[in-house]
Amino acid sequence: MSGVRPGFAPDPGVAELLAARPFLSADPVAGLLAEGVPLNAIADEAGTPAWVISAGTLRARARRLKAAMSAADLDVAAHYAVKANDHQAVLHILAAEGFGADVVSGGELARVRAAGIPAAKVIFSGVGKTDAEMDLALREGISQFNVESAEELDILSGRAVAAGCEARVALRINPDVDAGTHEKITTGVAGNKFGIPFEEALALYRRAHGLAGIRAVGFAMHIGSQILSPAPFRAAWARLAMLIREARAQGLAVEVADCGGGLGISYRDETEGSPEALAGALRRELGDCGVRLAIEPGRWIAAPAGILLSTVILRKAVAGGAPFIVLDAAMNDLARPSLYDAWHGLVPLAPHLLRSSVTEGAHLVGPVCETGDTFARDRRLPALARGDRVALLDAGAYGSVMSSTYNSRPLAVQVLVDGDRRAVIRPRQATEALWAEEYVPEWLSSRPE
Ligand SMILES: *Cc1c(COP(=O)(O)O)cnc(C)c1O
Repeated sequence: MSGVRPGFAPDPGVAELLAARPFLSADPVAGLLAEGVPLNAIADEAGTPAWVISAGTLRARARRLKAAMSAADLDVAAHYAVKANDHQAVLHILAAEGFGADVVSGGELARVRAAGIPAAKVIFSGVGKTDAEMDLALREGISQFNVESAEELDILSGRAVAAGCEARVALRINPDVDAGTHEKITTGVAGNKFGIPFEEALALYRRAHGLAGIRAVGFAMHIGSQILSPAPFRAAWARLAMLIREARAQGLAVEVADCGGGLGISYRDETEGSPEALAGALRRELGDCGVRLAIEPGRWIAAPAGILLSTVILRKAVAGGAPFIVLDAAMNDLARPSLYDAWHGLVPLAPHLLRSSVTEGAHLVGPVCETGDTFARDRRLPALARGDRVALLDAGAYGSVMSSTYNSRPLAVQVLVDGDRRAVIRPRQATEALWAEEYVPEWLSSRPE
């Protein structure tokens, strides 16, 4: 049985977690498998902490999203939100599925171009694009800038004129709709930094149509992340449709409605956001607007495809309380629990632990010198001993991309599994690489006699 906290449903147990994650399975001999690959073999070869990403899961989810759109008779351009997981291998897989990219920096733009995603399939989002980033995107000829303020529109106009080209622009509108998600990942309510206030949208769109170097193509919205119900999407897109009608009534052409990302997944026991419901909402609110639709999913595609493998360094007993299980992964690897109080499933790798029906309550923590370096409190798991390995689930999005080297901890190795195949797609960072680019000025390096 799983642990019961007062007022909460019990945490899902190992069997429930695995049942909801088809690429993971418990083999009676090899232990936990990702697709056809024993995770113990990866940990033996590559060490821990180690990120593992499932190519099959990325493909399956990309296909399910596209199929949901087709089934609703919608022609929707899917632009993967690169910030969720920007590894070249991930981008290659999604590019092969026909996905374009939504980028938020010049670095991400260069990255997706390196992965072979054509500029004509790239949207550039973000509240503060530097001149250099705008110039790069103009040179590359990306398909769309999502502009978030009047000030940015003027700057982009100037850069485009100077470069002798035209920027295709969608205005990102803040619809003032509460996505009902964590406050740090809500982006579409009045008072946060994102987008143009709804009331100012039309006037600015009119001005955009007259600006040199700008071709105003439509509107964009992105209301937040980890959204599980279609209701906030529908509320936002209803406002988007209203804006499109009003713009056209004023004689302003609208070609594009970019509906953003934000579809959520099941980390614990939530009902996962449904692509079919998303498609239904799109069709209902925007289906008859006669615009090209775009979406920008990140988390929904990548999060369930990735896990973080870790080894128990030691068990620290606590008199009269739950023990601390100290892992070799930490908040510098996976920051979400410390940043957002995120719940991540934990599953042991060894066959005897996967079979075990005896559980204990424990706190799972990393070794970093911060109290926030805690992955789980009072989690019921089979009793873990020094040397046992666990997988932290649903770490494929906003996981490795948020890693740092805090506490001089090298970036963890990354491994791709694809059917029975596995490959290291980024080696563990060498310890010396941590300071290899640091210089000590010569006046400090000459020691006094
Ligand atoms: C982060 C982001 C996304 C992706 O959000 P998910 O919740 O990962 O789907 C899409 N569009 C924009 C503009 C973003 O900033």
